[in-house]
Amino acid sequence: MTKAITIAGGGLAGLACAIRLQERGVQVTVHERKSYPLKKVCGEFLSPGGWQRLQELGAEPFLPQAPTELRRVRFYADESHSVDFALKPFALGLSRHAMDTALARRFQQLGGTLRENSKYEGEADGVTVIDARGKPGLPGESAWVGWRAYLPAGAAPTDFQSVDLVMLPVPEGYCGFSRIEDGRYNVCLVARTPVVINQLLASHPVLAGIADRLEPFAAIASFDFRNYPGPGRLGDRRSVWPPLVGDGMSRALSAGMEQAQALLENRPPRRTSTLGGFILAKSLHTLMMSAPLRQVGLRVTRVYPRIAESLFRTTRVG
Ligand SMILES: Cc1cc2nc3c(=O)[nH]c(=O)nc-3n(C[C@H](O)[C@H](O)[C@H](O)COP(=O)(O)OP(=O)(O)OC[C@H]3O[C@@H](n4cnc5c(N)ncnc54)[C@H](O)[C@@H]3O)c2cc1C
Repeated sequence: MTKAITIAGGGLAGLACAIRLQERGVQVTVHERKSYPLKKVCGEFLSPGGWQRLQELGAEPFLPQAPTELRRVRFYADESHSVDFALKPFALGLSRHAMDTALARRFQQLGGTLRENSKYEGEADGVTVIDARGKPGLPGESAWVGWRAYLPAGAAPTDFQSVDLVMLPVPEGYCGFSRIEDGRYNVCLVARTPVVINQLLASHPVLAGIADRLEPFAAIASFDFRNYPGPGRLGDRRSVWPPLVGDGMSRALSAGMEQAQALLENRPPRRTSTLGGFILAKSLHTLMMSAPLRQVGLRVTRVYPRIAESLFRTTRVG
């Protein structure tokens, strides 16, 4: 293989690939169009598999704080009916700015070249240039938007004390509250366009009760959950998984690590997730958008909490 590789995109997939190659003596240059710490829209819910990959990549010592353990979930089927269940194995709450920066520092520690504020416009060939530029933006109206805010520690409703992660529906979308390492909640909204954020915040009593305490952080417009096959494409550049069930961070790290291994062994990369898994995630996502089906999910989870736990294991431990 070539002894010099260019990676476009310094997110999770690009940096995972870069670290693995750099560890094995390949000289890697990563172009990241922004500067660290990056501002991402993300639920900041890291599956156990994702945390293991972050540790394998040697990024843990560069995290300023240990992640928070996420052990209990509250799922709202509508405005007032909810069920709590356990996450087994537990997941982690970790801010993206800490995670992406830790990977970037690890890459630099290995001698890699990181070009920040460097927009890469060339094509990828999967051999000398790898494309990890994240979700393609869509011009169309029929797309999804993401919005993220922080809820300061102490500003959460008192009944949140018994749970670490809360999921609730909003019109044409949903919202997740996830506790992160500094005690704050990450509040992440995902909804179909057209969207008026203030209307979504007013649409559920839990959100309406804390809306004036939210600190808006970042927003992204017009993306869709799709596959974008092509040579050398990694992470969201290749497949945008629905966040509710998709485990995108873990998959991005795995895809980067596998691409590096394939380059080192001079073979095509193996798929790190199956088409069946992608279809399952998209189907579950679509089902969760339906209010009657959420009610069924609520009743089933109340009677058989193990079903919710095994669904979590199936979709979020990749
Ligand atoms: C609303 C929302 C919530 C989510 N919540 C979760 C969650 O809670 N848990 C989870 O596991 N997953 C979640 N995901 C999915 C997860 O965020 C992604 O799957 C993951 O970030 C993909 O990593 P990546 O490296 O492929 O892309 P990214 O993290 O997007 O990285 C791509 C990088 O490329 C850079 N770039 C773009 N264009 C260029 C260019 N031309 N030149 C140079 N650099 C460029 C970008 O600035 C970016 O830093 C969520 C996704 C969304 C949309």
